[in-house]
Amino acid sequence: MNKFVYSFKEGNKDMRGLLGGKGANLAEMTNIGLPVPFGFTITTEACNDYYENDHKIREEIIEQINEKLDELEKEQGKKLGCEKNPLLVSVRSGAVFSMPGMMDTILNLGLNDISVRGLVESTNNERFSYDSYRRFIQMFSDVAMEVPKYKFENVLEKVKEKNGYEFDTELTTDDLKEIVSIFKDIYKKEVGTDFPQDPKEQLMLAIEAVFRSWNNPRAIVYRKLNDIPNNLGTAVNIQSMVFGNMGNDSGTGVAFTRNPSTGENRLFGEYLINAQGEDVVAGIRTPQTIDTLKEEMPEIYKQFVDLTKLLESHYKDMQDIEFTIERGKLFILQTRNGKRTAKAAINVCVDLVNSGMITKEEAIMRIEPAQLDQLLHPTFDPKSLKNAEQIAKGLPASPGAAVGKVYFHADDAVKYAKEGENVLLVRQETSPEDIEGMVSAQGILTARGGMTSHAAVVARGMGKCCVAGCGQLRVDEESREIRVGDRVIKEGQYLSIDGSSGCVYLGSVDMTSVEVHGNFATFMNWVDEVRDLMIRTNADNPRDAKKAIEFGAEGIGLCRTEHMFFEEDRIPAVRKMIVAEDVEDRILALDELLPFQREDFYGIFKAMNSRPVNIRLLDPPLHEFLPHDEPSIVALAEQMRIQPSDLKKRIVDLDEFNPMLGHRGCRLAITYPEICVMQARAIAQGAILAIKEGIEVHPEIMVPLVGTVNELKMLRPIIEETVNEEMEKSGVNFEYTVGTMIEIPRACVTADEIAEYADFFSFGTNDLTQMGFGYSRDDAGKFLEEYVEKNILEKDPFQVLDQRGIGRLVEMAAQLGRTTKPNIKLGICGEHGGEPSSIEFCYNLGLNYVSCSPFRVPIARLAAAQAKLRKEMKIVNDK
Ligand code: PEP
Ligand code: MG
Repeated sequence: MNKFVYSFKEGNKDMRGLLGGKGANLAEMTNIGLPVPFGFTITTEACNDYYENDHKIREEIIEQINEKLDELEKEQGKKLGCEKNPLLVSVRSGAVFSMPGMMDTILNLGLNDISVRGLVESTNNERFSYDSYRRFIQMFSDVAMEVPKYKFENVLEKVKEKNGYEFDTELTTDDLKEIVSIFKDIYKKEVGTDFPQDPKEQLMLAIEAVFRSWNNPRAIVYRKLNDIPNNLGTAVNIQSMVFGNMGNDSGTGVAFTRNPSTGENRLFGEYLINAQGEDVVAGIRTPQTIDTLKEEMPEIYKQFVDLTKLLESHYKDMQDIEFTIERGKLFILQTRNGKRTAKAAINVCVDLVNSGMITKEEAIMRIEPAQLDQLLHPTFDPKSLKNAEQIAKGLPASPGAAVGKVYFHADDAVKYAKEGENVLLVRQETSPEDIEGMVSAQGILTARGGMTSHAAVVARGMGKCCVAGCGQLRVDEESREIRVGDRVIKEGQYLSIDGSSGCVYLGSVDMTSVEVHGNFATFMNWVDEVRDLMIRTNADNPRDAKKAIEFGAEGIGLCRTEHMFFEEDRIPAVRKMIVAEDVEDRILALDELLPFQREDFYGIFKAMNSRPVNIRLLDPPLHEFLPHDEPSIVALAEQMRIQPSDLKKRIVDLDEFNPMLGHRGCRLAITYPEICVMQARAIAQGAILAIKEGIEVHPEIMVPLVGTVNELKMLRPIIEETVNEEMEKSGVNFEYTVGTMIEIPRACVTADEIAEYADFFSFGTNDLTQMGFGYSRDDAGKFLEEYVEKNILEKDPFQVLDQRGIGRLVEMAAQLGRTTKPNIKLGICGEHGGEPSSIEFCYNLGLNYVSCSPFRVPIARLAAAQAKLRKEMKIVNDK
């Protein structure tokens, strides 16, 4: 027979899976001799069994519960429902991973018309006893029977009003007796039966209610947000009640062993005298800080401080402890690892390592990589956020928080930012033309586009907050307004956006600033000592490259050359090249562009000094660089001194039904080899300039979007001839490599052929996901959220690498590539290169590096160190 119920004496802290976090810790504390009110835990397996058994608790489990109840009654010398000295219990949920406030709790269970008299006798406190009874009826009805809370609260308010009271504490015993009787009537009216007087019936109904609360809507949302699997189930803890509301020698409170916001090593908490836990939460009375307890109850305070120290050194982590004082006696009701900010998390870890309590490796495993975002970007002030009105939610495309007046056009964003305003750029979707507006804006909000859309990729590169694909917003760029539901937000009105959650708030929410402190550097040094996967960055200009180095990047994994084409001084030459009628004209335009590109590459080599720099040849379809609306076409034609009709014709020529699968990537270089030649020449010349200044360079020239080996076979010699020619001309030699992006499924399948002509592969998992799934990276936002909601996909595959499908393509390409060239260099430069689970996958495939946007470099460093430690731990475990 399976064991479904464990007394606190039978469990320990390592049994979280079965007993839940709370149950495991209650057992652990009981066994190390702490003053924990006794009780027992019904396992998560019993919860799952309840769901499998058509929402019924099986007889066998009921028997086990009754056995443990007998044991509890004996231990306490009290009986549930008894007329004399009755036992009262709390019934609380307790999941494997803490889900604070998401599930249900019932207190004071066991009270009925008889035992309430027993309680009066044993406590000699009639008021307290009837107050407990009315609280129980209210909580039981709400939690177990779904009778709306307000029905009871209205009664309380009426009685208080009738008697002119302000606080619940003014209610007299007679008032409370009257309230109990009214509450029972409400119960009968709402439920259709009398309030259950049999405590065992109360108990079973309460346990079922807690099991059910595992699947209440807020618990489901919380699990989704925190990646907690739905099939774990909750345990239920039955614990004898202790009371903090038995007079002025009683009280209840919560304390953290350290400050959860800063990590400062000082007890942090609050308590209320003569109160129950729910009073602290309800915020009716203002609690006192824990320091005051030292004066009010010095003995208890000392005992408590000793216990908190014991708990912290026992669990080797900051604890969040609930306690109750009942008539001068201290009880610990719960302990768990305390939730904390990223700053506190780092400070606590460094402190615990320094004091020898944990190892550096343990510290590394404790920090959630994504949490580092909080340290690198501003966030909203939690207090201000509480009062903010959320109006929509999009994709969390680039973390951080931003507040500003909304503008719908890039040039307006630039203009108003120059005037000193904080600006949010709001667009249907951004295009490369918006780049200056994006630079000027505090943040970017788009109605369309996914996690690898232009706005998302560029914003992440800049470290700028971005919410993308916010489909609830109707963005009308022409009439300059946003419609969401019935609301209209006009140009110049304030919005606040959170790029870490995707939430959009009305008005202006206060922000907190970024504070990177000494312990962060110490911690990251430990991370680097452990890590052996190289972390590079995706950077397109010297500014981003420098930023990335500050964050610890060891090279550039992807420089998207086209991102430099949009700068004001070079776009005319780019456009000339595109509209050129023949090769000669095109070469003339390219000659104009060459010096700009040379400077760009020189600047990047200089910034990266001796680190490898991977430069990708032109990738996007050319039409992206031309205007599409009539006035801009006319203006450009005038500027270029050509007929608007000729320009229009060229634009129509370039128009494609599906540009993503059209004339882009290496296809451009095949049809216009002169573009490839200009870029290779600019790379070589930039490198030579840098070398002449004593800078060591390691260029890697990358051909995008190869689908057949023949493309690379044709382009490689063109690149080599050009670079070699420049070396000969200048008399300066340097080592360089030529390789390709692997971002088309066919390239993965034929990677052994491609490897013959490639010194390296860089996995472009954005396009590979797009083409592997057949989901347009710019349009998939429309249905991906629903796909995730309906469990068709576990995650958005543009955010988290789909290891089973796209990952297998990567694996196959890596293997095939290595069969041809065992030492072929392998990296990833799609957005997944900054996502922890994808990084772990890449590490386990033995890739040489991952590359991500500058602000994600610290996250990638930590994820890489954790991947290594996890792999080592698995090896140890397997042994
Ligand atoms: C990719 O496809 O993964 C990639 C890095 O290239 P881009 O996002 O520029 O298409
Ligand atoms: Mg690509």
